[in-house]
Amino acid sequence: MDKKSKIFVSGHRGMVGSALVRRLQKAGYSNIITRGRTELDLMNQQAVHNFLAEEKPDYIYIAAAKVGGINANNTYRADFLYQNLLIEANLIHGAHMAGVQRLMFLGSSCIYPRDCPQPIKEEYLLTGPLEQTNEPYAIAKIAGIKLAESYGKQYGRQYISAMPTNLYGPNDNYDLSNSHVLPALIRKAHEAKLRGDAEYVVWGTGTPMREFLYVDDLADACVYLMESGYDGPLVNVGTGTDVTIRELAETVMKVVGFEGRIVFDASKPDGTPRKLMDVGRLAGLGWRASTGLSAGVSLAYQDFLSKQSQTA
Ligand code: GDP
Repeated sequence: MDKKSKIFVSGHRGMVGSALVRRLQKAGYSNIITRGRTELDLMNQQAVHNFLAEEKPDYIYIAAAKVGGINANNTYRADFLYQNLLIEANLIHGAHMAGVQRLMFLGSSCIYPRDCPQPIKEEYLLTGPLEQTNEPYAIAKIAGIKLAESYGKQYGRQYISAMPTNLYGPNDNYDLSNSHVLPALIRKAHEAKLRGDAEYVVWGTGTPMREFLYVDDLADACVYLMESGYDGPLVNVGTGTDVTIRELAETVMKVVGFEGRIVFDASKPDGTPRKLMDVGRLAGLGWRASTGLSAGVSLAYQDFLSKQSQTA
């Protein structure tokens, strides 16, 4: 990638897209293009195709997606499937029509079968049934991976896919009903501390295991893959270690400084029992995550506090 290459980062206001823009700017890329939701509706096929034909980017990152935690995925099932299918179809086909040779599509670890062996290797894709709570989102992301791959096979495009594990960091969504577990726990522990509560409520049984990657590490891996010229099959991006939800809740309490107890609300779903990525493929290409969980949660908590003071 030339430092003057034109790079379109879709979804630049989101957690992943904003981390990508930060990382690219830090590396000296000077021609990054972005479009806000009101300037370009990614679900509008004609608008997306016209935009790409006019701009003709050299590289595209598809960080735009409708995303959310277990409750959002389970509740807005049609929206997650429909919106993600449109966004990725418009961008990938539009990129091809505009002659864009290199693109990176971002997915999620929930694309893998619910009960597959751990750690999860890339080749386990499509070997078994999906977790029900996020099946529509996973189906949309699997379609995106196959679409990107197919433009490679049929037309020689280098459209690669990266599958991040659970992400967290600056610009995360802290909405209690729709967010992922880590930002939700930061907010719950923080508010419990402020109110002087004796306990904070964690959904499910606390026994599921999850792997958490700081979003700046993901952005680093995405830029690394593009710069390296990698043109292979999908790549997992994670840390290679996971924790139980109980352990996560304890780490968050320590970072936030909340000294009460954890209460589990077993009426809420646990979701997949475990989804630890096998990160061997990416390690083989020379990349490893560098931010540990406690350090990352501290950074995320600082971001949460700074957003609070901005809105206060
Ligand atoms: P998932 O990784 O796709 O299942 O999505 P989440 O990040 O939303 O949830 C991960 C796990 O954290 C599930 O087992 C949830 O039951 C558990 N969890 C515990 N407390 C919360 C919470 O306050 N919000 C969310 N979203 N999940 C929670």
